[in-house]
Amino acid sequence: MKAVICPAPFEMFVGNMDRPVPGPNEVLVEVGAAGICAGDQYIYGGKNPYVIYPCIPGHEIAGRIVEFGENIQGLNEGQKVAIEPFIGCGTCYPCRVGKPNCCANLTIIGNQLPGGYADYVLAPVQNIHPVPVDMSLSKASMAEPITIAIHACNRGQVTAEDTVLVMGCGPIGLNVIEIARERGARVVACDINPARLEVARFLGAETLLSDQNLLQNVLELTNGEGMPVVIEASGVAAVMEQTVDLVAAGGRIVILGLVKRGTPVSFPGLDFTRKELTILGSRTEAGDFPEAIELLYSGKLKFADMATELDMWRGPEIFSQLAMQPDKYFKGILIR
Ligand SMILES: [Zn+2]
Ligand SMILES: [Zn+2]
Repeated sequence: MKAVICPAPFEMFVGNMDRPVPGPNEVLVEVGAAGICAGDQYIYGGKNPYVIYPCIPGHEIAGRIVEFGENIQGLNEGQKVAIEPFIGCGTCYPCRVGKPNCCANLTIIGNQLPGGYADYVLAPVQNIHPVPVDMSLSKASMAEPITIAIHACNRGQVTAEDTVLVMGCGPIGLNVIEIARERGARVVACDINPARLEVARFLGAETLLSDQNLLQNVLELTNGEGMPVVIEASGVAAVMEQTVDLVAAGGRIVILGLVKRGTPVSFPGLDFTRKELTILGSRTEAGDFPEAIELLYSGKLKFADMATELDMWRGPEIFSQLAMQPDKYFKGILIR
């Protein structure tokens, strides 16, 4: 089979390898679409803290079932599916307490296991989520980033009573805006890129440019109180540090962006007690695929229709362009 292989940072080529054979409880999926996530761009750029090289990236995967291993019932060949890429070990402390998303030995399809930028990909049967026959595979591949947004909103306990500040309007930030709006929250989004802010407004957010007036503008919007919920989706350490100033006393901060391993983020210590801060990490998702697929199918989410479809086998060229111009597409999806 053909696959887009990343042997080391800033290297990528289309190679040939054996078609994988599903073992017991495994399903082989013929890939139709695999999204480009910041995480994949970080694999290419050497910034992804979890990847093991050489790697076939791509964890936002949708396709059709072509083969299954023994012991599998209830799925059909040809069935359209989205793949949940996260696999917990089932035995460590977080797995034992129902948080396999932060498993100490978490493996991710497209990071440590071969991903979706290939003709075929293997997944455990419990990671396979059927999608409606009339949903395009390109749209179905958006289920994964939507689960990330659902989990972040769950971590921040976002409700219709809240005003939520979403910091960073990349694909994940834009998905967070839509999920928070779907829950009825008032959403304010900020970014340094005016074109992204335009999309954020289209998705129902009020917007602020991330400039030196951001704090003042946030205070003006909130009667001087600050934001009840701040969701950081930029992956920039300085932005993470800013969340503490922007959040209201008694509010919640959700840190969703990834920084390179070892990057320090510091806060003025007094603010922890003065504001009685709740700072929550948010990693991947936790059983959110069915909700994401249902929301996608409902047609309520507009961002899913704004993706740019790109030829998977042009992957090496696309990733080298993205290294120069990371926000060239609001959302790119590799299709084959
Ligand atoms: Zn992703
Ligand atoms: Zn575990």
